[in-house]
Amino acid sequence: MKYEATIGLETHIMQKTNTKMFCACKYEYGAEPNTHVCPVCLGYPGALPVMNEKAIELCCKAGLLLGCEINPYSKWDRKNYFYPDMAKNYQITQADQPLCLGGQVAVEVDGEMKTFTLERIHQEENAAKNTHVAGASLVDYNRAGTALMEIVSNPCMHSAADALAYLTALKQIMEYGGISDCNPEKGQIRSDVNVSVRPVGQEKLGSKVEIKNMNSFAFIQQAIEYEIDRQIEVLESGGKVVQETRGFDSDRGETFSQRTKENAHDYRYFPEPDLMPVKISAEQIGQWRSELPELPVQRRERYVKELGLPEYDAGVLTADMATSDWFERVMVHTRNAKAVSNFIMGEMMRLLSEHGLSIAESKVTPEKLAEIIALIDAKTISTGAGKQVFEIIFNEGGDPKQIVEEKGMAQVSDDSALEGWADEAIASNPKPVEEYKAGNAASINFLMGQVMKASRGKANPGAVMQMLKQKLDG
Ligand code: ZN
Ligand code: MN
Repeated sequence: MKYEATIGLETHIMQKTNTKMFCACKYEYGAEPNTHVCPVCLGYPGALPVMNEKAIELCCKAGLLLGCEINPYSKWDRKNYFYPDMAKNYQITQADQPLCLGGQVAVEVDGEMKTFTLERIHQEENAAKNTHVAGASLVDYNRAGTALMEIVSNPCMHSAADALAYLTALKQIMEYGGISDCNPEKGQIRSDVNVSVRPVGQEKLGSKVEIKNMNSFAFIQQAIEYEIDRQIEVLESGGKVVQETRGFDSDRGETFSQRTKENAHDYRYFPEPDLMPVKISAEQIGQWRSELPELPVQRRERYVKELGLPEYDAGVLTADMATSDWFERVMVHTRNAKAVSNFIMGEMMRLLSEHGLSIAESKVTPEKLAEIIALIDAKTISTGAGKQVFEIIFNEGGDPKQIVEEKGMAQVSDDSALEGWADEAIASNPKPVEEYKAGNAASINFLMGQVMKASRGKANPGAVMQMLKQKLDG
């Protein structure tokens, strides 16, 4: 029998706010544990929550970037559960009236454009961070109550590749939009993955398994692949897939059963009595919409249409925001987009990966790259020399013009010098000369090589070719 997998993701993203969702405590990653806490985020009786306006704005902007409808009226609910990562014994979240509805992520998977639809985005608060050590569990409440939004996709994906493409696009959009830094190591993007399998042609979805709280994209991919295979095996052998929550053991690359039978009603959701509903006007939404930045897809299109770059270049340059922003900063100083693109995709990416640096740490600044390109375009130096200058500055810093001068890299276009080298090449290589005159046009390349050698690479190739032709044809 043939089977089809269905996958849905619930992705939690920590927003870029200075303070927590319902109190004035600072959000600071890596701070001394339990130093950013107060009666509200520690759940003291009688402490009252106050909404973080910036978080609401970022959640709605995320919604606008993803094509959601912004709910003019949304409200807060309590999700009750007992676990030390939430001192109040409930999480404030949004159950039936979230901030954003619908939306989609369009992305290419293995060369095919796919649109993955969203159910909703709701605002909630983060739980504390638990660390389990030998014989004890440590709780750091610095993270408790920080602003967290949950992006819920529809069960519309069918492979690990779909899920990976969706998550990658989501992360990219959130970064471009200034919503979140989405650093997986800092837990700023974590997903619950729902996987089910059914025979092809069956309408009803199979029992779903939820794999909770994964931050590594590689592990998510492995977990999905493992889970699809496992469920197919269960069905093939005549068994039933149990609806349950499973964990992922990254050492073994396997999922394992954690707990069964958990339904929404187990959380006893009820309206949060301490917070007013959120009402958002059409004017406010219009204002936020006008503040949205250009997204990767839009930039890509502009690079192709307005700057004349190939699709491939536009894709590479916009793959991450830092590279794309850097490219934009070079373009302030030059009009030669293709040259900038070639340098970034070639020398820059090679050297960055060799040295394990980020583009922000490069000693070649956007201004300096523009200068190097100007020197090449003015034919002061060859493209090869330009690459050398780039590498020298990358390693040691320095000024392009000064380096060209110090190292004597300027091209020679001066006729008398070229003429001397050309005459010598012709005089000492009668055979290629003869061949060229007999109609073998390619033989001129040998002579050209001799001149370049004599000039130690500094002769202007175009000028040399012209000079040789003049002498041989004339
Ligand atoms: Zn607090
Ligand atoms: Mn959640």
